[in-house]
Amino acid sequence: MPGLGASGSALLRQSPAPVRCFDCGVQSLTRDGYRRELTTTGYRYRCPACEERRSRRDAEQLRIITIAFPIVGLAATALSWFFQPFLLPPSLIILKASLPLVCQPILVVAHELAHAVVARALGVRVFSITVGVGRPWFQGRFLGTRVRVNILPFTGVTRLGHVRKRGLRLRHWLSVAAGPMAHVLFILAMFAIWRESIGITAGGVGPDGDSWMPILFSLAGLFTLLNVVMLIGNLVPHISYSGGRPQPSDGLQLLRAPFMSQTQLDHLLATSFVFESADLQRESRYAEARACVEAGLKIWPAFATLRLDLGSILMIQGEFVAAGQAFRLALGLPENPSSLVAILESYLALSELAIGSAESLDEADRLSRQALAATGWNASAKVVRGAVLVERARHSEGAVLLREAFDGAGSLSSEMRATLQCYTAIALHPEAGDIAAQRLETARKEWPACPFLARAAQATTPHGAPTAS
Ligand SMILES: [Zn+2]
Ligand SMILES: [Zn+2]
Repeated sequence: MPGLGASGSALLRQSPAPVRCFDCGVQSLTRDGYRRELTTTGYRYRCPACEERRSRRDAEQLRIITIAFPIVGLAATALSWFFQPFLLPPSLIILKASLPLVCQPILVVAHELAHAVVARALGVRVFSITVGVGRPWFQGRFLGTRVRVNILPFTGVTRLGHVRKRGLRLRHWLSVAAGPMAHVLFILAMFAIWRESIGITAGGVGPDGDSWMPILFSLAGLFTLLNVVMLIGNLVPHISYSGGRPQPSDGLQLLRAPFMSQTQLDHLLATSFVFESADLQRESRYAEARACVEAGLKIWPAFATLRLDLGSILMIQGEFVAAGQAFRLALGLPENPSSLVAILESYLALSELAIGSAESLDEADRLSRQALAATGWNASAKVVRGAVLVERARHSEGAVLLREAFDGAGSLSSEMRATLQCYTAIALHPEAGDIAAQRLETARKEWPACPFLARAAQATTPHGAPTAS
């Protein structure tokens, strides 16, 4: 029965098996962004939210080792050098072992700076340089580039944005190649120094009377080896998940660049508008951000991320109907990854909720249910679904989702954070008046045009008429 078989497979495609996160147990219909791990009993999956939490937690723990270990090594070497030369060899072992911990952050910075300097020289914009994972240690701006150093500085990402079409492929390739090139230069420099210093090895005499050149040589050898290891790690084509977000290695990007289609090259250009608009939105310059996104959409109208961005800016500006149109247009584009579809559904549901008519609330109900089923881990999906449930007077169900959303609130956009505060205030209306007032004040700061503020203020005032939960 070939007919039945065909419809059967079509049905399978429509309802994929849900994937369950083994950390938090949340179920999702799409495994986009999920981390797959091989265990003795087969594959297990971790949701993007748990993956990010885990990488942050690991970073906190590893930080202590990475700081303590080199300090112990250096202190032990210094002490034994001056007081007990016979202890030198064991402390040198600690020193050597901690050398990678000291040098790797320096090499990561050199690597990212090489990307940035070459990109700039080629007329490519450098939007941000991030070093390390975990909580931020330092954040600032330098020559128009956002710089962020996190507590575990052993990896790095430089975000580039192309602004010119001509020579784009070559410019991109060279900017990516610059990072690994930094390690090649270090290796060549070490060899040059080594060749130069062969002649003076006999002259170097340390405080203990022995020749200290072998020690320096072995440290230099280790430094060279570290560069070789980092070079190989960079050039092997793979996708890494440091920081919880998939990131293609330099090697993978170098291999991909020569074969990029015109669409992918356009995508590269359009991404630059996304970065620029994100920078402007961070500074609350929404009118400029909107102009930037609209300029990008003129070049590439089928870029869903830009449409999502435009809709989000329109929401912030209080133009909910236009925002809904932008989200709907993005949803209609072909080849959207399923996780993006769920995000767009969440935002479209939010715009429907903002419009607030009976039909739009039905639509928000349907969309938010769909988005949460697809990406059960996503904080935005939880906010919007929670808000819709509260709006439907299903307060306790909504409150559970809203409480969970606070966990991932750091990754939320300002309109999502404001919605979260407003509906939490409504769902928990018996909470102390000053807490509710605080929530609404936070929401007003995040999103002055927030349409839920008035409703939340009414529901939380002592003389308001709160509905039973
Ligand atoms: Zn999870
Ligand atoms: Zn790199």
